[in-house]
Amino acid sequence: MSSCEHNDRPLAPYAAHQSTSRGRLFEEPAASYRGEFQRDRDRIIHSTAFRRLVYKTQVFVNHEGDLYRTRLTHSLEVAQIARTVARALHLNEALVEAISLAHDLGHTPFGHAGQDTLNACMREYGGFEHNLQSLRVVDHLEHKYAEFSGLNLTFETREGILKHCSAKNARELGEIGNRFLERKQPGLEAQIANIADAIAYNNHDVDDGYRAGLLSIDDLRTQTLFAAGFDDVSARYPDLEDRRLIYEIIRRMIDRVVSDLIRTTQDNIESVNPASIDAVREHSRPLVELSDTVLAEHQSLKRFLFKNMYQHHKVLDMTVRAQRMLEKLFEQYMRDPREMPEEFAAPALDDSEAGRARIVADYIAGMTDRFAIAEHDRLG
Ligand code: MG
Repeated sequence: MSSCEHNDRPLAPYAAHQSTSRGRLFEEPAASYRGEFQRDRDRIIHSTAFRRLVYKTQVFVNHEGDLYRTRLTHSLEVAQIARTVARALHLNEALVEAISLAHDLGHTPFGHAGQDTLNACMREYGGFEHNLQSLRVVDHLEHKYAEFSGLNLTFETREGILKHCSAKNARELGEIGNRFLERKQPGLEAQIANIADAIAYNNHDVDDGYRAGLLSIDDLRTQTLFAAGFDDVSARYPDLEDRRLIYEIIRRMIDRVVSDLIRTTQDNIESVNPASIDAVREHSRPLVELSDTVLAEHQSLKRFLFKNMYQHHKVLDMTVRAQRMLEKLFEQYMRDPREMPEEFAAPALDDSEAGRARIVADYIAGMTDRFAIAEHDRLG
């Protein structure tokens, strides 16, 4: 494969090239019309877990309103930001898109409340971590192909999905976990998808939080990122109604952070001058980063959202309800695995207690919000 994997943009030498990919766990013949990372992205889009993202909470429970982000629209926004950055830096756009679309596949119903509850239920059985679960979904839990379980994605996509990992889990994962033991980096595409996730939620949560009436424009103006956008938009359009005002501000916020990310990363790449993706992996620190100034603004907004939105009583109410529901589901399936569908029940009945717990966690993690609610009601 030549170094030109986009139609119109040559890839940089330090990008992920499919010619030097570490490959798939099960060897497969090449696709006729698609590159390998494009094929990964397509497999992710066709997966069951991906379709379920539309009914999974980002911050607000899915049925609380039609306008809020769900895991699916969040993932699409992450992919949009990541592709822009990858393209500007001559990196592999198909790979960055695949990683972005897959990054939340392992998320439980009910957002972080769900993740924390399932982790608590699994404390004695190795814990539950949504990021590791995303890898588990693409490596094992999708049952679509005759010759293997999972989606058999390339190493580079899997490397990007596994953003963090404990040493204990890393040892169990083998090759894909090595970088956490050796303190190495993933490729630039993985680094981009990781930051694009944070940029996406920081910005869309301002929008959702404002729509939900949890954040006011005055409160938001205490944040430098927001205030800069506010000053610019209100000077230019003094009579703009709030709905458009917010959106014009968010556009500017995204633009400021993304432009800074591209510039800072470009400078880092120029000074380190990595010869290949392996040189990127060997480097002592990530090369994809924000400048100190913009990083401080970004982190301040993140803290602001944590305090004023994720900790808001309306969001916390949902947290408590979600916690009770998932605890009860976990208990009931542990007590009687036959309450789960046959494909989960049969192996759970045969397994050790820890093995059974992992199967129950897989089943619960795969649920959409509304299915978890229906199951909770059914089990009474
Ligand atoms: Mg995310």
